Amino acid sequence: MKERLFTPGPVEIPERVRKVLGEQIIHHRTEEFKRSFLEVRELFKRLLEEDSENFVFFASSGTGAMESAILNFFGQGEKVLVINGGKFGERWLHLAKHWGLEPIEYKVEWGKSADPEEVKKLLDKHADCRGVLLQISETSTGAYHPTKEIGELCRDREVLLVADAITALGVYRIVPSQWGIDVLVGGSQKALLLPPGLSVLWFSQRAERRLKDRAFYFSVKKELKKQMEGQTAWTPAISLILALKESLSMLLEEGMERVENRHRLISKATLRAVEVLGLKPFAEKPSISVSSVFSPMAEDIRRLLLKYGVRVAGGQDGLKGKIFRISHMGVDPKDGLMLVGMLEVVLKRLGLFDGLGEGVKAYSEVLTEGGLW
Ligand SMILES: *Cc1c(COP(=O)(O)O)cnc(C)c1O
Repeated sequence: MKERLFTPGPVEIPERVRKVLGEQIIHHRTEEFKRSFLEVRELFKRLLEEDSENFVFFASSGTGAMESAILNFFGQGEKVLVINGGKFGERWLHLAKHWGLEPIEYKVEWGKSADPEEVKKLLDKHADCRGVLLQISETSTGAYHPTKEIGELCRDREVLLVADAITALGVYRIVPSQWGIDVLVGGSQKALLLPPGLSVLWFSQRAERRLKDRAFYFSVKKELKKQMEGQTAWTPAISLILALKESLSMLLEEGMERVENRHRLISKATLRAVEVLGLKPFAEKPSISVSSVFSPMAEDIRRLLLKYGVRVAGGQDGLKGKIFRISHMGVDPKDGLMLVGMLEVVLKRLGLFDGLGEGVKAYSEVLTEGGLW
């Protein structure tokens, strides 16, 4: 039986990308690689609708690019405001502490989103704050943080907005300069629809003036110089870069507005179905990349789904056993329907809902109303 992945990383890899991944490797110090890499860079600029060359790829998981953001744009003893509303907000906090920054923690209850008013208060109070670190989509809780609103607050101050977009880049239409983002971090195995091992960091002109030279492997300066010429300082994740050409092309062919709309509808449809089936959405303002669902039986639901070949994610830390999480990243709307159908079967088996078809009906209605079907 084929196991289907609905986990918020890694996500299933589209057929077109898999084809490229199955090819023999090429050498990276060649014209062929250079040409492809420069093409990937052009596609990436189109994805963000920015002309700037200020971005670099690293052979690392997403956390590598997060560490790079800390190391290249902040110095020891500098104050940063960390929006900590989950496992990944916590990671910013750990990274900032590890590298000698002075994080001010804005603790957001898990499942809730940051309040821009609170951010404003904290920035007013700490006038020497040099950055705000957040997740656009907090994957551990399924919450969306109001990034544009917070971007507005950073724009008028000497504060860089550092946005972890690891489950947002490739789902939301993000134009960093319009959102007020100064440093944007992405990762391959989430919304970019690739296997793990490639991360990306984009930065604004304002951030460029703050570039430091503290990192060795994760040096933005060193990489940028090479990457603008179609090369990399160290051995790149060759296959992933070649595959990224395919996934970026797919996103651009659909158009980011439509990509975002597809995810928005699938998210809305899934959450509506979940409610109809007697379960409770967990996040107050849900990210459209991942839906978290509250249930005291979360682990039983997750395990039975897995037995039937559908893998969703559980809760982490304090949310273990309390929620399960469904990824919508790169999902085809009809696969989302299958997931809801399987959830119905499982809920019936567990005696949690007496009926069949109600969730599927709710799901398909949302997609019809949204004009997708
Ligand atoms: C997955 C994830 C990360 C970490 O990525 P790794 O690739 O596991 O290092 C960071 N932030 C968010 C929001 C994520 O979803």
